[in-house]
Amino acid sequence: MASEEEVIVDVVVVGAGVVGLTSAIRLGQAGARVAVISADESVDTVSAVAAAVWYPTHTDEDPRVLQWAVRTYEELCRQAGDGVPGVVMRPTRMLVRQRVEQAPWWSAAVPDFARVSPPSGEYTEEWRFTVPTVEMRPYLEWLRGRLGGAVERRRIERFDDIEAPVVVNATGLAAGELCGDPDVYPARGRIVLVANPGLVTSVRDEDSPAGMTYVHPRGQDVVLGGTFEPGEWDTEPDSRVGTEIVARCADLVPELANATVLAHVAGLRPVRRGGPRVAADRAWRRTPRHCPGAGASSTTTATAAPGSRSRGAVRTR
Ligand SMILES: Cc1cc2nc3c(=O)[nH]c(=O)nc-3n(C[C@H](O)[C@H](O)[C@H](O)COP(=O)(O)OP(=O)(O)OC[C@H]3O[C@@H](n4cnc5c(N)ncnc54)[C@H](O)[C@@H]3O)c2cc1C
Repeated sequence: MASEEEVIVDVVVVGAGVVGLTSAIRLGQAGARVAVISADESVDTVSAVAAAVWYPTHTDEDPRVLQWAVRTYEELCRQAGDGVPGVVMRPTRMLVRQRVEQAPWWSAAVPDFARVSPPSGEYTEEWRFTVPTVEMRPYLEWLRGRLGGAVERRRIERFDDIEAPVVVNATGLAAGELCGDPDVYPARGRIVLVANPGLVTSVRDEDSPAGMTYVHPRGQDVVLGGTFEPGEWDTEPDSRVGTEIVARCADLVPELANATVLAHVAGLRPVRRGGPRVAADRAWRRTPRHCPGAGASSTTTATAAPGSRSRGAVRTR
């Protein structure tokens, strides 16, 4: 029996990145009493580093991911229309180098996806589409405001130490160790932030022989990318790699040639061999819900992944 001072909760969400905060809000909307524990402030998570453009980077075709991506697209589109801080719909030009027979699997989620002629012989075709992009710092702050209650700052060692009928594991890369899941690993991403010279369109040349190249304008700055480096854990800035990223982005979008560099940033994407794992682990004393390694592009699926199962999770009490 809980003492009067104890707060009774139905669910504890561990993690206050985009997945944890979104899950907690959606569980609360479904009627659960939710508490959130996080080792870090939301602004210090990988989520705060993300370019956060809706796009399933390095994600294999998976009907579950497509379903989550569709729902997240719709939700972020609605949020952009409602003026939620940091969320805007942005036109994209994607330059394709390989021969493709048909539109990519994820295009089913994007209403205005179109294949057009390439701008030069280097490319086989160009894809044009409009997708939500999220400036994560104001967006995470907005999510924190919607959450209402405080986030308890604490690093947990084991899920069994948490007193709650249901525990949602939204610990990103840390889920690998916490769950003993050897399939979870980091894919380091390096990006450079530069002052925005007036760009509005995202441009991608992901298979450039010079290295993965993307340009994502935001309000005041532009995210220049990037790298996708499986197994690399070091997040110290590397100005040499950053200089190369700026050079290839300026080749792609000449307006960037003299853009002022604001910051070199690195973060570790949580990736999982075999795809995202969203499942209840019923072998446990209580019924924790796992969502480890939700993916290299969890901003693209965050609205739908764990929260969509919230009713089932609450019923396990
Ligand atoms: C350079 C870069 C660019 C990216 N661009 C995009 C993009 O354009 N589009 C896209 O969709 N995705 C992008 N991503 C990926 C995206 O950032 C991640 O998929 C997403 O942020 C993961 O969110 P998360 O909430 O699962 O994890 P995180 O943001 O890592 O949050 C994990 C949370 O768990 C907490 N935690 C961990 N261990 C413990 C513990 N033991 N006890 C308590 N709390 C704990 C942490 O403190 C934190 O609050 C990018 C990533 C990088 C690095």
